[in-house]
Amino acid sequence: MQKKLNALIVAKQKATLAIALSVVNNNDLKEQIKHKSIPKNFYKELIAKFKEHTLYKNIWIQIVDSDLNSIYKSWSESAYNNKISFRNDIRKAIKEKSPVISINSGVHSLSLRSIVPLIEEGRVIGALEVISHFNSIAKELEEFEVDSVVVLAKERNGYLKKPFTKIFIDNYYIANFNAPSQFMEFLHKEGIENYFNSSHMVQDGHLIVSYEIKDIEDRVIGHYIMFKNIDKISDKNLDFFMLKWFIISAFVVLALAIIIGNYVYNKNKKQKSYYKNIIDSSSNMVLVVDKNSILDVNKIFFKYFDKYKTLEEFKKENSSISDFFVEEEGYVQRETEGKNWLEAVIENPKNNQVKIIYDAKEYYFTVGVSFISKEDRHYSAIFSDITKEKLYQQELEHTNITDPLTKIKNRYYYNVQIKKESSNANRYFYPLSLVIFDIDHFKKINDSCGHDIGDAVLIEYTKLISSHLRDGDIFCRIGGEEFAFILPYVSKSDAYRIADKVRAKVEAHKKIFAVTMSFGVTEYIKGEDLEVTFKRADKALYEAKNAGRNKVVVR
Ligand code: GH3
Ligand code: MG
Ligand code: MG
Repeated sequence: MQKKLNALIVAKQKATLAIALSVVNNNDLKEQIKHKSIPKNFYKELIAKFKEHTLYKNIWIQIVDSDLNSIYKSWSESAYNNKISFRNDIRKAIKEKSPVISINSGVHSLSLRSIVPLIEEGRVIGALEVISHFNSIAKELEEFEVDSVVVLAKERNGYLKKPFTKIFIDNYYIANFNAPSQFMEFLHKEGIENYFNSSHMVQDGHLIVSYEIKDIEDRVIGHYIMFKNIDKISDKNLDFFMLKWFIISAFVVLALAIIIGNYVYNKNKKQKSYYKNIIDSSSNMVLVVDKNSILDVNKIFFKYFDKYKTLEEFKKENSSISDFFVEEEGYVQRETEGKNWLEAVIENPKNNQVKIIYDAKEYYFTVGVSFISKEDRHYSAIFSDITKEKLYQQELEHTNITDPLTKIKNRYYYNVQIKKESSNANRYFYPLSLVIFDIDHFKKINDSCGHDIGDAVLIEYTKLISSHLRDGDIFCRIGGEEFAFILPYVSKSDAYRIADKVRAKVEAHKKIFAVTMSFGVTEYIKGEDLEVTFKRADKALYEAKNAGRNKVVVR
């Protein structure tokens, strides 16, 4: 999942950045800016071409002169020569003479922008901006069965004069066209603000992840909320929640790779130092290397390898950064099948996670390697720190299998375990039983005492049941007040005894509210579809309900 997503976003961002850089390199543009005359159709045709050859269905171009007058907007005929000095990202690009990648909200929508300054003889003469929408990212995410709702922060509504999508929930502007109405209704019902918190939760059978979209000054200008059906999550695609990092860094990494190339091979001293400044101001660790040694690094390198002040000092004691790679499965190794790590990453760019231990500290990175020159075999290697995301992911892995209310295992865990146990049972010929159970007349508790008491009952009785299970028995909450035991090495008749013991304990407990439960028991038959096993247990439960409840039925 992570890898697919990475490739996807990289492809996209590569396109915008390439667009910006290729247009900027056009000498005609400089002349056009100087004379403030941009041929109308030229960029329209260019955009049409890009639409054809990239994943973008919508891109816009704006050209600004050095006094921050907008002198061309591909989306408007009339807006000409208006001041846009309020745009801090463009101001920054011009002031620092470096490309700026930002997310911004304006008259039309919330959008991704890359801005490249135009430089002539060391002087900024203007800037070119390429604008794209969240819509395309949200669309691509659908391919991974992830639904998105991209929300503009309310504080930004004042700027929104001509909303691009015209979609709103409770006065919140939605910046993507493909937000499913099911989730829009859900957000409306639950209160959309409750999801503006950069965290994750499990609700309504979905894992809901949200994060804040920030502008260049770190102001929250929107929220990206994603929904994924819990049944469709596998261990691997947990990584998908690193999306936040991807959106930001994939952009930067690509920009950097291009800039490094310009830096290394530029003969012009002034331009060389211009590129070097950009590389140094990056928060990614950048290395220029040949097969055997490091040729150059940027400033941030010494934030990690802080024992050294210069590259020479580092090289005296170490031969390569790969000396610090931890040999663990799933991470880039110093050598793979006779290939050194640079070749391995170029060949298989999706295997790009690096774990480094230096000075007893653990760091995680993703690394992108590209050729600067094939003849000289010079590479650029850009390391993006994902340590925080890794820790977040580890935490997520835990919360992802735990039901937040009762703290027992959730439905996702049930799905994973039943698959695993049934395939083991097939292979090793041991019995496996399944018990499904449900609280009797639970609606009455909610109706007469309120939902909070209902919740308290769920907590109290799951605790009671947990205390009567053996190690190895798997106890999950698979629905609102529906539970399951997965019982490996337990036959149908033993499963009946276990279920009936629990039934009696529940009946006798009488805490908070006296409840009873009904149970359906079955045994997995070797080779059968798990759906069939589940349906049989469910049918048994149904029969237990029909037979007067507080019963165990075996099928
Ligand atoms: P039956 O004996 O046929 O199972 O009757 P029932 O009333 O328990 O019916 P059913 O199982 O269909 O109803 C489940 C109810 O459980 C509906 C819903 O309001 C409530 N419920 C589901 N999840 C939760 C929860 O997390 N907390 C609370 N308090 N109630 C819940
Ligand atoms: Mg019930
Ligand atoms: Mg029920």
